[in-house]
Amino acid sequence: MTMPRFHRAAGAVIGSAVGDALGAPFEFGPAGRFSARFPQDARGAATEMCGGGSLNWEPGEFTDDTQMALLVAGSLVDRGGLDGADLFERFHRWAGANPPDIGNQTRAVLGSGRPWDVAAAEHFARSGHAAGNGSLMRTTPAAVFFAPQGRTATMDAARRISALTHGDPSAGEGCAIFHELVRVALDGGDPLAAVPETLQHVAAEHRERWATVLAPEWTPADATESNGAVWPTLGQAVWALRGATSFAQVLRRVVDLGGDTDTVAAVAGGLAGAVFGIAGIPMRWTSVVHGWVPGFGDRVWDLADLHAVTAGLTGKSGDRYEAPSTPGLEPREIADGVWASDLDGARRSSREFAVVSLCRTGEPFGHEVQRFAYLTDDDANSEIDVVLADVLDDMAALRAEGRQVLVHCHAGQSRTGLVLRAWLRRSQGLTAQEATDTVAARWPHLSRWNDSFTAALERVQQPAGPNEG
Ligand SMILES: [Mg+2]
Repeated sequence: MTMPRFHRAAGAVIGSAVGDALGAPFEFGPAGRFSARFPQDARGAATEMCGGGSLNWEPGEFTDDTQMALLVAGSLVDRGGLDGADLFERFHRWAGANPPDIGNQTRAVLGSGRPWDVAAAEHFARSGHAAGNGSLMRTTPAAVFFAPQGRTATMDAARRISALTHGDPSAGEGCAIFHELVRVALDGGDPLAAVPETLQHVAAEHRERWATVLAPEWTPADATESNGAVWPTLGQAVWALRGATSFAQVLRRVVDLGGDTDTVAAVAGGLAGAVFGIAGIPMRWTSVVHGWVPGFGDRVWDLADLHAVTAGLTGKSGDRYEAPSTPGLEPREIADGVWASDLDGARRSSREFAVVSLCRTGEPFGHEVQRFAYLTDDDANSEIDVVLADVLDDMAALRAEGRQVLVHCHAGQSRTGLVLRAWLRRSQGLTAQEATDTVAARWPHLSRWNDSFTAALERVQQPAGPNEG
């Protein structure tokens, strides 16, 4: 089964924001700090989205990388394409609001007072600074937007957007390569295999330098600049993707490199998100990602907003989802410490619950712990095993902390039923039939219409060891 394209697009947009937020507390730190603090997955109430750092970010808060990416997305959608003057004006308004984090080149160009079409070029002519990664870090939404237009169009758009703030064409070529690799991934191809062909479309005078950092044998130890420069930033992102089997593994590898961790992780997260899809991003990370955009009001952007942004970039309605009401099934305990309800039942439930939401909810409910799994109730979710394992692992960790876990979906029937049955398979070693019979007896709302869920239930594995956390 092939992954739906929308899963990849959402994975790219949200994966980039997740990487930004995950890396932010470790910015300018030494290599290895992430793994020292988190030697294993942190799946309880406290996760790797730890906040802090020199700018004291909130847990899950994204930084200038995603702030600017959202400006790119908004301009592309509102203008129906690339309008350099409009996008520059949005950047300018943002920079004028004193964002806590802003790159040196970006600040200098946006603060120059010069017109949009000459500001960056003049700054480059004057300073000749080496290419920073500040245009690469924000370009994932543009990569998603322009991908359907083909290789030439998306690489050209990347260069033009980069040039608004980064006059050095080296930065533009890096963005162009990134756009093309994301385009290939969104089409279901292997971006790593596409590197040699992509290099053929890089401006000749820049090709060798890019070929060096994107070569299979290149490692971060070979970098000749800090990863605040564009070459090692993209080089590290591609290096991290090589041989990785999950989104989380890619992100762990890049954040562990230290240095400009939020930006390298934003770039790696955009690319890895297109490869592994939204369902491949751990829900403990997507559930808490959020931030605001200085200069554009007090609005806080959250996961549902990022989904809406992705929809807008891919030609669908960019309106935030409003959940219709449901009967409001009272939470009922189905297994030790594991409860079930429907959407409104969960919304009104005791704040003591750790809530696992398996459907779109509109607004978060206000519980201290609420996780949002990407589990669509159809037979097109090619990542169902990955999502289910992620949900079960988080449930086990939350239970191990003594929390009561409330699982719900819209009607409390199909998705909720799958997770409850899978939980019994895993925690009590029941067969799929035994788990189904047990849940049906305790939760009459169980629905078994989805054959792909039934098949996934058969594949649920017991945990390898006694320590499920
Ligand atoms: Mg940043």
